[in-house]
Amino acid sequence: MSATDAAVTELMIERGHEQVVFVADAPSGLRAVIAVHSTALGPSLGGIRFWRYPSERDAVVDVLRLSEAMSLKAAAAGLHQGGGKAVVLCDDPDEPRSEAVLRAMGRAIDELGGRYISAEDVGATPRDMQGIASETPWVTGIDAPGGSGDPSPMTAYGVLCSMQSVAEELDGDQSLAGKRVVVDGVGHVGSRLARLVVEAGARVAVADVNQERVDALVREIGAEPLAVDRALEEPCDILSPCALGGALDEKTIPQLQCRAVCGAANNQLAEADDDDALAARGILYAPDFVVNAGGIINLAEEFVGYDRDNARQRTGQIADTVSRVFAVARAEGIPPGRAAEAMARRRIVEEGSGRRWQPGDPAAWTHGAPLRTLRPR
Ligand code: NAD
Repeated sequence: MSATDAAVTELMIERGHEQVVFVADAPSGLRAVIAVHSTALGPSLGGIRFWRYPSERDAVVDVLRLSEAMSLKAAAAGLHQGGGKAVVLCDDPDEPRSEAVLRAMGRAIDELGGRYISAEDVGATPRDMQGIASETPWVTGIDAPGGSGDPSPMTAYGVLCSMQSVAEELDGDQSLAGKRVVVDGVGHVGSRLARLVVEAGARVAVADVNQERVDALVREIGAEPLAVDRALEEPCDILSPCALGGALDEKTIPQLQCRAVCGAANNQLAEADDDDALAARGILYAPDFVVNAGGIINLAEEFVGYDRDNARQRTGQIADTVSRVFAVARAEGIPPGRAAEAMARRRIVEEGSGRRWQPGDPAAWTHGAPLRTLRPR
């Protein structure tokens, strides 16, 4: 069934979504959709996207897809939480939101009693999150006592650790010394990753549509600058997509000159079977949703009392997960993306055993007490 003509409830059944909430607030003009894909492993967590969609239908399809991806990401990362996502329909996502819109969104999230815990996503600003947080405690990543702040440094660290597992799989040695790494997109995550990769002894080449960001890294760490249209075709050991999703498709995969792909961008593969195309070319693919989980691992640390060292230690464990994914892929003769997805789904089914988390239920970190607030007081 095509996503464009199926009823929303049919799509929900097909992909296993528990709940979709349509939010409309006449006084403020807020229009939003919140999707809870799964709470089998715990309350759902995912970002709020402020975006201009061609139609409400596109918004619904997007929020269903993104919330399912969050379930897989959390499950693969070993977290005790499910996947959710919210989209706010905007005429102009760059136009600051009124306080009334943010408060109405906060109340809608609050009504779910913790079944959906929100975070920043594309288009959201710290001001948006603060406005939402004035109506609900179910907001992560805000600049407040107990908040974890900007997740990008932890995401970059998780990608670095994943690259070490990639190096081990390629050459039997975790060291990145002497390897050539291309970082495509040097924004919040990519710029930090480029610095970490150089500290680990690799040579790094960088590309970005924003030339100033490239120039800054050339000056600061001696990165080699690349033209954006050359980045994917550059010979290297590891290509690290850190810009937008969908960079790897039927056109770009035949042009790649790398031995492995390992980056932060979400949804790097335009189509699910691009995983097979990479494997057929002998390119090792470290699945994006496993590699870039540092951000949500960092957010989840807020639930137990945020401690940066603990967050870093848990993020480092992504390396073990990546190695396990490669081992399963090898053993079962399937590409790593498919292996990682199967591992995540298996955990949701086996450990979650069909549970649905309800407001007032305990969470894995509350030692049997009802989950009433996000962070320990
Ligand atoms: P960002 O917006 O700070 O950086 C993206 C960079 O990519 C920008 O510098 C932009 O100029 C550049 N860019 C855009 N189009 C490009 C193109 N065609 N070619 C080359 N460069 C291009 O975003 P970010 O926070 O660094 O996130 C990067 C990616 O990682 C995104 O896909 C995001 O969804 C994903 N991700 C981020 C986090 C996080 O913690 N920030 C966590 C998980 C996943």
